[in-house]
Amino acid sequence: MSEGKEKEMIKVEKLNKSFGDLHVLKDIDLKVNESDVVVLIGASGSGKSTLLRCLNFLEIKNSGKIVIEGDQIEQETHDLNKVRERVGMVFQHFNLFPHKTVLGNIIEAPTQVKGISKEQAIKEGKLLLDKVGLGDKYNVYPSTLSGGQKQRVAIARALAMKPDVMLFDEPTSALDPELVGEVLSTMKELADDGMTMVVVTHEMGFAREVGDWVVYMHDGKIVESGIPIDLFDNPRKERTKEFLGSIL
Ligand code: ADP
Ligand code: MG
Repeated sequence: MSEGKEKEMIKVEKLNKSFGDLHVLKDIDLKVNESDVVVLIGASGSGKSTLLRCLNFLEIKNSGKIVIEGDQIEQETHDLNKVRERVGMVFQHFNLFPHKTVLGNIIEAPTQVKGISKEQAIKEGKLLLDKVGLGDKYNVYPSTLSGGQKQRVAIARALAMKPDVMLFDEPTSALDPELVGEVLSTMKELADDGMTMVVVTHEMGFAREVGDWVVYMHDGKIVESGIPIDLFDNPRKERTKEFLGSIL
């Protein structure tokens, strides 16, 4: 994250989350400034998805602060559906509606949740599909698409709500290797357009090239974070070195 008076899009302080006796997030602190791309890395089970899901209020924290664009969000005082409109999320398994066309998938939330007119939603949806390189696919069903195309539709669908922040949870992990690149380039374009993004990924090339800040999690804690070249080329903690050694 660069210095200066940038807008703080997300601030997390001492965030804790447990499932029953399992303490999954332990005193997590995190800041994400406007237009930053923060990449979360770490072994399976370290709490990355839970952290993203807490940021989107799909999971409710046990303690700590989550501040989104200056608002400290609490389940008791905020309409979480409204907050979720500001924080879009893309999952590993696209979760498209199979019985709706590509465009039908994209206009669903804007028309049903935001009350945008169908005409307007269609117009904007087609522009978004152009943007993710699928302008000619608006009328087909998801089952006819490749995994990479499905994921790009899922990205367009999230963008259709005009979120201020986008969360990506291993968006390429379910894809055949030859389809990973097209999704990563779509994400890179989004980052270049200035979208604020938090991305969980095992794609270290993406983390290095597109990430402004990399956060390494282990066992529910942030072990180390830094700009990509420091974290990857000069990790300070033994744990980080071990993890990077195991994956690179
Ligand atoms: P990661 O995304 O880094 O692989 P997760 O956040 O998915 O890690 O999981 C962290 C830990 O929390 C794991 O031990 C996982 O089994 C547990 N966990 C995640 N979600 C739930 C849940 N809904 N109920 C119980 N345990 C969960
Ligand atoms: Mg996960």
